[in-house]
Amino acid sequence: MDKHAKWITEAVESVAETALREDGEYWRSTYTREDDRAVALLKELMKAKGMEVCSDAVGNLFGRIPGRSQEVIMAGSHRDTVRRGGKYDGMLGVLTAIEAAGSLQEEAGIPEKTVEVVAFCEEESSRFPTSYLGSRYLCGEFSEIELADRDAEGIPLGEAMKQAGYLKESLAGKRMDLERFVELHIEQGGILEQKQKQIGIVTAIVGLFSGEVYFKGHQNHAGTTPMYMRKDPTPVAAEFIYRLNQWAMGHQYDLVCTVGKMNIKPGNANVIADEVMFTFDIRSSKAELMQEAAEVVEQLKDEMEGLIEISIVVPCNEPPVSLDEEGVALMKQIADNGNYNYMEIVSGAGHDSQVLAQSFPVNMIFVPSVQGISHNENEFTRAEDIEAGIHFLKDFLREAAWKA
Ligand SMILES: [Zn+2]
Repeated sequence: MDKHAKWITEAVESVAETALREDGEYWRSTYTREDDRAVALLKELMKAKGMEVCSDAVGNLFGRIPGRSQEVIMAGSHRDTVRRGGKYDGMLGVLTAIEAAGSLQEEAGIPEKTVEVVAFCEEESSRFPTSYLGSRYLCGEFSEIELADRDAEGIPLGEAMKQAGYLKESLAGKRMDLERFVELHIEQGGILEQKQKQIGIVTAIVGLFSGEVYFKGHQNHAGTTPMYMRKDPTPVAAEFIYRLNQWAMGHQYDLVCTVGKMNIKPGNANVIADEVMFTFDIRSSKAELMQEAAEVVEQLKDEMEGLIEISIVVPCNEPPVSLDEEGVALMKQIADNGNYNYMEIVSGAGHDSQVLAQSFPVNMIFVPSVQGISHNENEFTRAEDIEAGIHFLKDFLREAAWKA
């Protein structure tokens, strides 16, 4: 393990301690004591690498290396974790960015462009209902109305921000000085490991179309109600799921479709159901398939509605996002020249990058996560893969920020 990988693996362990709560649970949610401790430690690490440290109104943390020009090349990831999450999701991207930018400054001096390392807050929806809060704020897509959103304990977002020492100034608009963003992240799938690759150059982030489908029937006795007199929503829901799945199987290399939750009310073995609900979660990197998914769900509703009323609630319909082509080309060139063991890959999970990519040129680097495990305390990335990742990020930042 070289000095960069050593620094990162040690820093991963120290920052992990900040997420250990008094109740023994590993969880760094936003604007909490755990988050404060992580911010304090990250500030120290950034300062030790010669960075100027600051936060914005919503609590994103930045480590800044002023360059010859004001345009900002930003690198980093999020600092919150899901409940019982792991040490690497998000934080590995923050720490590799600190080490890459810090060591480049040591080796190459003042950068041409200003470099900022970011530790975003509230990416995972770890406390409040909306996700990607920090990155949306940078794009000018965080609205004041959201400050009234409440966490599970009823505390409004604005109040939590103030208690944590943020929101001292009024909210700012889109960051106009941001020229490019790059995020290193664990893969959260097992593809890199399976293909024995150390670097994934991410070309796109899948879109997400998710929602709930409700089937309204009529509750009655399972023994005394003849089949021809029933309004039973369960078989209709089952057929809906089957047909949706059949459509998805027809595109099995381009999309994924999951029914992960189902409720039958009242849920007794000897009672015909009153209502059935199931969720769907459809993801693809192809915009036309995401469009088709919405049409298929609507079409199934139209075809199957009759005796049983069907209603659909869609809380999320995010289009897929292509990452910056120039950045991808540069990464491929770096990977070929530097003999990195790499592949191009599509991200099946959402990231701050997908939000930022709608406003700025954005690229992502994946490193393997052992067995593809993430959002789990057993998350682990091997030191040799961290080493490849940090060098790759460093090479990219050198090209993007240190060369004129
Ligand atoms: Zn993440």
